Amino acid sequence: MNTIRSIEAIIPPPAPHMVGNGFRVHSFFPGGRINKKRMSPFFLMDYNSKIEFPPTDVPRGVGVHPHRGFETVTIAYKGRIAHHDSAGNSGIIGEGDVQWMTAASGLLHKEYHEESFSKEGGIFQMVQLWVNLPARDKMTPPKYQEVTNNLMGKYQLPANKGEIEIIAGEFNNIKGAATTFTPMHVYNARLKKDAEIEFDFPSNYNTGILVIEGSVIINDQPVPTDHFVLFNNDGNKISVRTDEDAVLLILSGEPIDEPIAQYGPFLMNTQDEVEQALRDVNAGKFGVLED
Ligand code: MN
Repeated sequence: MNTIRSIEAIIPPPAPHMVGNGFRVHSFFPGGRINKKRMSPFFLMDYNSKIEFPPTDVPRGVGVHPHRGFETVTIAYKGRIAHHDSAGNSGIIGEGDVQWMTAASGLLHKEYHEESFSKEGGIFQMVQLWVNLPARDKMTPPKYQEVTNNLMGKYQLPANKGEIEIIAGEFNNIKGAATTFTPMHVYNARLKKDAEIEFDFPSNYNTGILVIEGSVIINDQPVPTDHFVLFNNDGNKISVRTDEDAVLLILSGEPIDEPIAQYGPFLMNTQDEVEQALRDVNAGKFGVLED
């Protein structure tokens, strides 16, 4: 098949809210016209659009909290983020880096601005995705993939018109750095002025593009900064061109066709499994992590 995938909606950033005191996010989904399955396997996308945080000696962020049944993927565009979890993993990511944390059977973690960034203050911009896991993988052990920028696959556009960073999946036979449980593609496209590029995903893959920097023309429609393009599942080709430098986050994945039961930080298939997760947290089965 070789048909254009049409645009379902160009969604402006929803009113932001704070997550802890460190993340001022636009929750693009689930919510609004994008229900809990519409972007599956991507369940949630919180976008911290650019904001300047003043210097502080007490790093801002989100304190210790649990997760079970999915993965949190944090993509840093500006600023630096530190992570610690009860599986014993920790890391710091900076501009252009990604942390891909598989909570799966369950862990506690905390997410903060990195210490020196906090002391200096500055512009902060990032995305957090919640990537769902299929029932067969929800109770696998937690793991942590630190996907620094140098580990990502890179496709160079001709004539120095930019590059595609392949975080997961593949593009033009170049593989991404992160391993995933179900098929998906996650890229950052860093495009120069007057770039042209085409993306080709199976039509059943749920697909969206978030404009992080600049503005772009997607399938001949102009899309401003901080807007999210939701595509129909009616074709495979997407064309992108630029008349200024731009950065795009590109998501496309095979849907997980299973029931969803979500309560707060637990993303399971049934209400019984959510209640079990609550009991397991209260019984200390998610480990120990100091605030
Ligand atoms: Mn979290």
